[in-house]
Amino acid sequence: KLYNQVQDLKGNIRVYCRVRPFLPGQYNQLSTVDHIEEGTITINTLAKNGKGRKSFSFNKVFGPLATQEEVFSDTRPLVRSVLDGYNVCIFAYGQTGSGKTFTMTGPNNLTETSQGVNYRALGLSVPEASLVHVSSTSDVIDLMNIGQRNRSVGATALNDRSSRSHSCLTVHVQGKDLTSGNTLRGCMHLVDLAGSERVDKSEVTGDRLREAQHINKSLSALGDVISSLAQKSSHVPYRNSKLTQLLQDSLGGQAKTLMFVHISPEPDATGETISTLKFAERVA
Ligand code: ADP
Ligand code: MG
Repeated sequence: KLYNQVQDLKGNIRVYCRVRPFLPGQYNQLSTVDHIEEGTITINTLAKNGKGRKSFSFNKVFGPLATQEEVFSDTRPLVRSVLDGYNVCIFAYGQTGSGKTFTMTGPNNLTETSQGVNYRALGLSVPEASLVHVSSTSDVIDLMNIGQRNRSVGATALNDRSSRSHSCLTVHVQGKDLTSGNTLRGCMHLVDLAGSERVDKSEVTGDRLREAQHINKSLSALGDVISSLAQKSSHVPYRNSKLTQLLQDSLGGQAKTLMFVHISPEPDATGETISTLKFAERVA
């Protein structure tokens, strides 16, 4: 029985899909999302010959009206497990402009209700006895802001605020199990990945092209690692990118992984949306 429980914990991977709402000034468009039903999202593929539809299934699908609170309420148990000594990795994946930073951090004009996962995971209330120092939370947020400013931002044809780097916030938590007296150590990585859009669309050359190829390589290495974990295969190719090497201890084994996959609702983005959902289905 215990063995089965341990097996269940292995390769504990979840994939949530989140659809960004149309932004102000975009409302006159028809959404690519045909409908959402429980964990399944159906996309209008805009196939040339007539109207095509395609469905993708995930652990959860959040529609455009989902609030930050709703999204976090499903993430909270995972964050709490860090206090029980588990290693946790939460990723935000998707093309530039699909809402990765919104989910992890929030919008530019941040308010308490619009705070993203990073803030909610750090301000998380814990039982009195836990070793989480409130005084250091603001220090962590300061660090997070410095990290945010340090992210390299390159201009591409898609979005001139496009993030061309991965942002990783790592939190180490140490606590004491009051029953056994054992020390528990958990680690949490909160990762806002670089945009997943394909190289050709961004119409870049030179350094920017090499950068884009590098990003695509690390994202596909991440996909390979997570999908081989999901399939419980014996070889997990951690060594294919720095990103996966860095996160190795928190991917696989007893670690818990959550991937938020973001899609934009615009018909213009249909190609990227389908490739994003295919990527996500591969790791689910
Ligand atoms: P990414 O980080 O994937 O490039 P952003 O998080 O910057 O995308 O989102 C692009 C724009 O859409 C931003 O102006 C952001 O505030 C807005 N946005 C993203 N997701 C949502 C959402 N769920 N609700 C409202 N606005 C959103
Ligand atoms: Mg971003």
